[in-house]
Amino acid sequence: MSTTERTFIAIKPDGVQRGLVSKIIERFEVRGYKLVAIKMVQPTQEHLETHYQDLKTKPFFAGLIQYMKSGPIVAMVWEGLDAVRQGRAMLGATNPLQSAPGSIRGDFCIQTGRNICHGSDSVESANHEISLWFKEDELCSYKHNSQNLIY
Ligand code: ADP
Ligand code: MG
Repeated sequence: MSTTERTFIAIKPDGVQRGLVSKIIERFEVRGYKLVAIKMVQPTQEHLETHYQDLKTKPFFAGLIQYMKSGPIVAMVWEGLDAVRQGRAMLGATNPLQSAPGSIRGDFCIQTGRNICHGSDSVESANHEISLWFKEDELCSYKHNSQNLIY
């Protein structure tokens, strides 16, 4: 397990529009993950179709792209031990009705089609998504308190 494992986390348009940006960021900050990159972006159709290319045959694909295009998102990279798996656990299940209370989706939403946040599902897809959403020089290097942990 790497101390520099990174995951791509995004706050979807409904998360931004509902004013949940700070609450979602806070979960990762207080847990001890290091914020490596962050930006607000209005994604294009083409960019979203690339991001969700694995889902292009799903019946909900067109609706998903419409939803994701409906406003700006907050794109982030978080770094730390087991960041990908823990990030997914912190978001909760895809269907918020199956998300445990205490998870972000379990606490703040109720519909799969409006589930407020995205998290990479593997280290491989995290690396792919990070390079899709961020340029190399947008990933910041600095000393973070998590580096005082004993590994
Ligand atoms: P996750 O975001 O948990 O990784 P998926 O990668 O399977 O989930 O799906 C991507 C997104 O597509 C989900 O977060 C959700 O917004 C949407 N989605 C997934 N399944 C459905 C569905 N059955 N109906 C509507 N939207 C869906
Ligand atoms: Mg997914």
